[in-house]
Amino acid sequence: MWLKRYLAFGPNRPLWAFLADALLANNTPASENSVPMDIRTNCYLQSWTTSTSPCSSQPTDLLKMIKTGQKYGVRIEGLAFDRNILRDMPIWHHIFADPRIRRLTNSSASNCLRLKHNLQTVGEAEDLAAPLIRVNGIQLQHRFNGQCECRDCIEIQELTECEHPHHCMLRAQELLDTLPPKWDPRAEQPADYEGNFTNFSVSQEENIFDYRLTTAGDLSDLFRVFTDKDHTPANETFVCNGELITVATDGSCINNGQDTAIAGAGIYFAKDDPRNKSLKLPQMAGGTKLTQSNQAAELLA
Ligand SMILES: [Zn+2]
Ligand SMILES: [Zn+2]
Ligand SMILES: [Zn+2]
Repeated sequence: MWLKRYLAFGPNRPLWAFLADALLANNTPASENSVPMDIRTNCYLQSWTTSTSPCSSQPTDLLKMIKTGQKYGVRIEGLAFDRNILRDMPIWHHIFADPRIRRLTNSSASNCLRLKHNLQTVGEAEDLAAPLIRVNGIQLQHRFNGQCECRDCIEIQELTECEHPHHCMLRAQELLDTLPPKWDPRAEQPADYEGNFTNFSVSQEENIFDYRLTTAGDLSDLFRVFTDKDHTPANETFVCNGELITVATDGSCINNGQDTAIAGAGIYFAKDDPRNKSLKLPQMAGGTKLTQSNQAAELLA
């Protein structure tokens, strides 16, 4: 539960969690020495690791917290994420970025981003790189040279004392390009197609199936326990055409609670509809034996 509160990003994050951030960032194995201190935000959101060795100077309570997280498979998991979440992620050493992002961190172009622009998040990188975007093949105001005097370049120079905004925009773009589409706010996301879910109204006996893949909320909503680290869910876009289909489903179990129990479920669309189905609960799922029971049958349904 300490870990859950530690990962409670957002306005109600406890003060000690910020202290823990600093301690975890300071106590890292020698292999992380090349990771600049100023980019070490959080080792659950970034690819640097903190010490888990009992010989390190890591405080015992934090060691316990980290070990508990490892034991129960706490990590980021989900099919798709709201753009606010994608933009709130730290850009430096982003945990899902291509490993080449680690090399991009230590270079003079990145030093300007880190130290002058104070660039920290994916969203800030996206905003900085935005003037590079061409609309229908036409470059907007920004000119691709060191002498550009567009509004963005002038504002960047005034706010950050950066002397070469164009270079820094290119580097921000390069950093974003290390993100897989699922984590890139510039890419199409399932949220773009999911429609306005709350718009549907239904009668009392019906439950609306929440078809959305997108995790909304903030960074704390990304974490799951009991995850399988070898499994990464695919991100397939589901297109909602705004049409409602009513389907009846139910599960049941014969000889519930006995050794001879057999569980199954039915799906009913309409009379003689080819999509109608009856299903048996499998004996095994992914190496785990499934108990034939009423509850399992209802879940199957
Ligand atoms: Zn610079
Ligand atoms: Zn410009
Ligand atoms: Zn700069």
